[in-house]
Amino acid sequence: MTSESIKGLTHQHIMNTYGRFPVVLDHGEGATLYDPEGRAYIDFTSGIGVAALGYGNQPWAEAVADQAKKLGHVSNLFYTEPPAQLAEILCNRTGESAVFFANGGGEANEGMIKLARKYSFDKYGQGRAAIVTLENSFHGRTITTLKATGQDVFHNYFFPFTEGFRYAPANDLEALKAQDQGDVCAVMVELVQGEGGVLPLEKDYVKALEALCAERDWLLLVDEVQTGVGRTGTLFAFQQYDILPDVVSFAKGIAGGLPMSGILANEKCRDVLGPGMHATTFGANPVCAAAGLVVQEVLSDEFLREVREKGGYLRQGIEALDLPCFGRTRGLGLMIGIEVREGWSNRDLAARLVEEGLLVLTAGPGMRLLPPLVITKDEMDKGLEIVKRALG
Ligand code: PLP
Repeated sequence: MTSESIKGLTHQHIMNTYGRFPVVLDHGEGATLYDPEGRAYIDFTSGIGVAALGYGNQPWAEAVADQAKKLGHVSNLFYTEPPAQLAEILCNRTGESAVFFANGGGEANEGMIKLARKYSFDKYGQGRAAIVTLENSFHGRTITTLKATGQDVFHNYFFPFTEGFRYAPANDLEALKAQDQGDVCAVMVELVQGEGGVLPLEKDYVKALEALCAERDWLLLVDEVQTGVGRTGTLFAFQQYDILPDVVSFAKGIAGGLPMSGILANEKCRDVLGPGMHATTFGANPVCAAAGLVVQEVLSDEFLREVREKGGYLRQGIEALDLPCFGRTRGLGLMIGIEVREGWSNRDLAARLVEEGLLVLTAGPGMRLLPPLVITKDEMDKGLEIVKRALG
């Protein structure tokens, strides 16, 4: 099919819930994508932080195909090997104690919220179920995670929302303490607010928050749906903040492009959810887990060091262009935000870049870059060249 016919069919039969760019993608290699007519696009998005290994990765494709031929799905009422192996690696590499596998980021966060409330219920009974999240955060699009999201714009249309969420400004511990009415069970944060604009939390604040949570027996829940799986240059961002969350959620890059997510819980929290209390039909799918094992193999310490270096290179390259529309860059590893100066629209800038052959994202009022972690220097240079040509 041609690009035009695919777009037409999409408009006819798929609900119009995405503000799409007018581009059809057909195949890819590394960090380069191609439309059906063969036009190349440098990808600074990786499917919003999912395709960690880029496109056309042979070991990944072979692992997926081999597992699909062997066993595509069985219920969690039985045991399978790939998720058990993946869980072992994740626990060993993080210091956490046990995993629950789910399918998407919002769903993983739902599990984290359920775990926190159950932990508090077991120990303190009913009435201690409030969760404090941060203003400008984003935690998902289910009825509960929309309400957990600290942005008013998401608290519309779908009433009634789940009760029990309060919000505090980021990097202000006193303001967070002021939300305590004796009923708090947990605090939930993104260490780098992604959708909100790529805003890293301050290290001192995060350390102090960990101490406060320990003191008051509030669970520290870290949403690493976007920051996890090597994106920020360590396996999880919390490892750069020198903390060990009680529970951490992950998704996006975990299986390099297949739908998989989950939560990792520490020793204190690993047994809070028992049989029948939490489940999902597709969770711990062996094909997704086999893909996840390849991702873990690629994400060595050396590879993660390179992710940090590439992030620095890309940020420097953008700042060196000294464009009138862009201010400073920020972020961690290959999770990069670019300030868009007043008078410029991030959406218009993104559209112009896509038109010129570079896929980018927006976040808050700025631009956001989440390239595949395997992106090469040559691909980054090509992308920077397009930025210069399109916006210079
Ligand atoms: N949490 C964070 C920090 C996210 O960035 C996202 C998605 O962008 C989500 C949760 C929701 O993930 P999903 O779209 O997979 O449900």
